[in-house]
Amino acid sequence: MEPDVHTRLFALLGDPVAHSLSPRMQNAAFRAAGMNGVYVALRCDARSVPGLITGIARANGGGNVTLPHKGVAAEAVEERTEAVARTGACNTFWLEKGKVRGDNTDVRAVAAVARSLLGEVRDTYAIVAGAGGAAAGAVYALLDAGAARIVIVNRSPARAEELARRLDPGGARVMVSAAPPIEGEEFDLAVNATSLGLREGDALPLDLETVRVRAALDLVYRPGETAWTRHARRLGLPARDGTEVLLLQGAAAFERWWGREAPLDAMRAALENRPDAALDTSSHGNAP
Ligand code: NAP
Repeated sequence: MEPDVHTRLFALLGDPVAHSLSPRMQNAAFRAAGMNGVYVALRCDARSVPGLITGIARANGGGNVTLPHKGVAAEAVEERTEAVARTGACNTFWLEKGKVRGDNTDVRAVAAVARSLLGEVRDTYAIVAGAGGAAAGAVYALLDAGAARIVIVNRSPARAEELARRLDPGGARVMVSAAPPIEGEEFDLAVNATSLGLREGDALPLDLETVRVRAALDLVYRPGETAWTRHARRLGLPARDGTEVLLLQGAAAFERWWGREAPLDAMRAALENRPDAALDTSSHGNAP
């Protein structure tokens, strides 16, 4: 569909954004679903984020927010979902009933992928590596889905302590461990929410030969899977890299913007760069 006077504008706000797969995935979704919208990536500084969010949403558009602006976006929106309020991170915005709203659709995506790996998240025991924005979303998603206990390990333990206190003030379900492995313990799920794995040759976030787990979810993705996902598969564990989370957070955002189900097959084809997606093949990378 050619853009016209009715075309809705959607934008990814972040820095950097040049490597993002979201324009490819969302424009494919708009085309497949016959939606009159266009999705662009805007590299911007933190000061510009509140104005861009408000202006684009009030002009009947919407968008996503990526590193390093998810926290600024959480402050900028007028109404927050529970996921935004608890994680302090907003990755999706739009206008609804005259208000600029924000959601953190990473949360729903992580819960769905964890469920697909485990069958049921309720009463499970998880270990999460990392304590940044992605870890906050993952820990909150697992808590919200009913995980019994979550152990956070992070290079900077103070940041892990802060995250645990914020998401589980009573300390009954989320704890921090100075270093893996946790002797004698077996986890249902291990999540990599660090940025380790983005680059070839990065250390593994958790050595699954010493930390015993039943399944592995890597939030990082790169062409041809991450080294940690391959490491998990070599050990016979069910594993997913971050592509599925990227797909499902994008599908949830599409549903917020258009009020209808997202065309998952077209979005997956675009991410996999299959010919049926009929799209630009020039960009690849690891940002929503
Ligand atoms: P962030 O806030 O910058 O946090 C980065 C985390 O990685 C921190 O816990 C940091 O530890 C840790 N880390 C970085 N370098 C490390 C190293 N050399 N050794 C050990 N730990 C290291 O980033 P984020 O927003 O949480 O994102 C983390 C990853 O998740 C990124 O790769 C991002 O692309 C990915 N992600 C994917 C999706 C998806 O859709 N699949 C969605 C969101 C995020 P310190 O606290 O010690 O610095």
